[in-house]
Amino acid sequence: IKATDLVEQSLDTIEQRDPQLNAFITVNAQQALADAVALDEKGIKAEDKLAGIPIAYKDNIVTKNILTTAGSKILNNFEPVYDATVVEKLSQAGMINLGKTNMDEFAMGSSTESSYFKPTHNPWDLDRVPGGSSGGSAAAVAAGEVFAALGSDTGGSIRQPSAYNGIFGIKPTYGRVSRWGLIAFGSSFDQIGVMTKRVKDSAYILTAMSGKDAKDSTSSKQEVPDFTKFVGQDIKGLRVAVPDEFFGDGIDEEVKTQVEKGLKVLEDLGAVIDHVQLPYTKYAVPAYYVLASSEASSNLQRFDGIRYGYRAEDVKNLEDVYIKSRSEGFGSEVKRRIMLGTFALSAGFYDAYFNKAAKVRTLIKQDYERVLADHDLIVGPTSPDTAFKIGAIVSDPLKLYYKDILTISSNMAGVPSASVPAGFDSKGLPVGMQMVAKRFDEGTIFKAAAAFE
Ligand code: GLN
Repeated sequence: IKATDLVEQSLDTIEQRDPQLNAFITVNAQQALADAVALDEKGIKAEDKLAGIPIAYKDNIVTKNILTTAGSKILNNFEPVYDATVVEKLSQAGMINLGKTNMDEFAMGSSTESSYFKPTHNPWDLDRVPGGSSGGSAAAVAAGEVFAALGSDTGGSIRQPSAYNGIFGIKPTYGRVSRWGLIAFGSSFDQIGVMTKRVKDSAYILTAMSGKDAKDSTSSKQEVPDFTKFVGQDIKGLRVAVPDEFFGDGIDEEVKTQVEKGLKVLEDLGAVIDHVQLPYTKYAVPAYYVLASSEASSNLQRFDGIRYGYRAEDVKNLEDVYIKSRSEGFGSEVKRRIMLGTFALSAGFYDAYFNKAAKVRTLIKQDYERVLADHDLIVGPTSPDTAFKIGAIVSDPLKLYYKDILTISSNMAGVPSASVPAGFDSKGLPVGMQMVAKRFDEGTIFKAAAAFE
C-alpha cells in the first residue's frame, strides 16, 4: 500500500462527506499529499506500522503553520509556530496530518454545538449531534474520512463522542501523554487521547505518542509498554466492577440493556463480575464544573487580543482592546465558564466553592482507588443516552453538563478510561460502554476492549 493512495482516498471521502458532516475546520490537503509523496519516495518499511496512515487532530492541538482555532473566533487567525509534542511524535512515526477537526469552543461542551465554526453532524443520523467536545474527530473517524483522530478529554470529551459515533476512544492516564501544545482548558484534568474504529490501531498510536516530555512537567516517567501486545490476550479471571450508580435513575433503559449485554460478553470470556458502589458519583458534576471552570478562567487569561488571535477594531485604549477582543472573540459558553471560575476563585468565595470542590475531588479519587484496589476494570455506560438532536438542549447548559455524569470522575481520579462500541439502541444509534482501569494500566483496557472485536 502506498501513502499516496491512502491520503487520496481520505481526501476523496472528506470531499464527499464533509459538506454534510462539517467534521473538519481545516483540511490540510496539499501538505498531506506532499508528505505522502515524500514518504513513498523514501519507501515505507514493514515495521513502520503507522507510516502513511492518515490522521486528524482536534483543533485545540497546535500544528505548525496550520490554522489552530480551538473552535473559537478568538483564534480564527492563529497559525502556531510549533507542533504539539503528540503531532511531532506521530509525524516522526510517519502518520500524515489530514487536517484539524471541529470541536466545542475551547473544548467546553458535549455536543460540538458551541463551535464558532457551526456544529458537526453525526454520520449515523445527520439531524443529531456527534457528542463533544471532540465531535469532529469522532465523526471524521466514524465516517471513514481518516483512520484515526486525536481528541482531548477534560471530563469526557473523547469518550462521549466516541460512544455517540460507535468508535473506540481512549483517554489515557493523566500524565501518560504530553500536553505540550494542547490549548489548556482544565490543566489538572486534560489529557490527549486516540479515537479509531479498531482497538489495535489505537494501541499502536498510543504507544507512539506516550511518554515523558521535558516540555510538560506533569508528563510521567512511567515506562510505556507496547500496548499492541495486550490486544488478543485472554481475559479469563479479569475482575470487573460494575457500579450501581452507573445504572441508576437518568440512565436510558436501552443504554443499560446494551451495556448489560456487553458485560455478559466479558463474563462469557471468563471475566468475574462484581457489583460495587461509587457513592460520590452524584457530586462529580457540580465539583467538576467548579474546578474545571476555575482552571479555565485562569488559562484563558492569555487570550487578550495582544499576543495572537482576534483583535477588536475601533478601540480607544489598551483596556478597550482587552475588553472588546474578549467580548467579541469568546462565545457564550466560554464566557459563562470564565465568570463561574473567576467567582469560585475570588477571595470571599474560595473556601465555599473551590476548596470544597477540591475536597470532593479527593473523595471521588479515593472511591476509585478503593474499587480498583481489588478490581482490574470498572465497567458501565459511557453516556446516559445516545446521540440527541441538534438544537434540542443547547439552550439548557445544566442538562448538557449532566451528559458527563459517568465520564467526569475518571478525570478527577486521573485514571485511564475508554469507550468501547457496545451495540445500538432501537433508533439504530450507537451505545458506548465505558472501561476504567488503574493508573497506567491502559493495557487492561486494550485487552478487554479487543475482546469485543
Ligand atoms: N463536557 C464537559 C465540559 O463541557 C467536558 C469537556 C471535555 O472533556 N473537554 O466541560
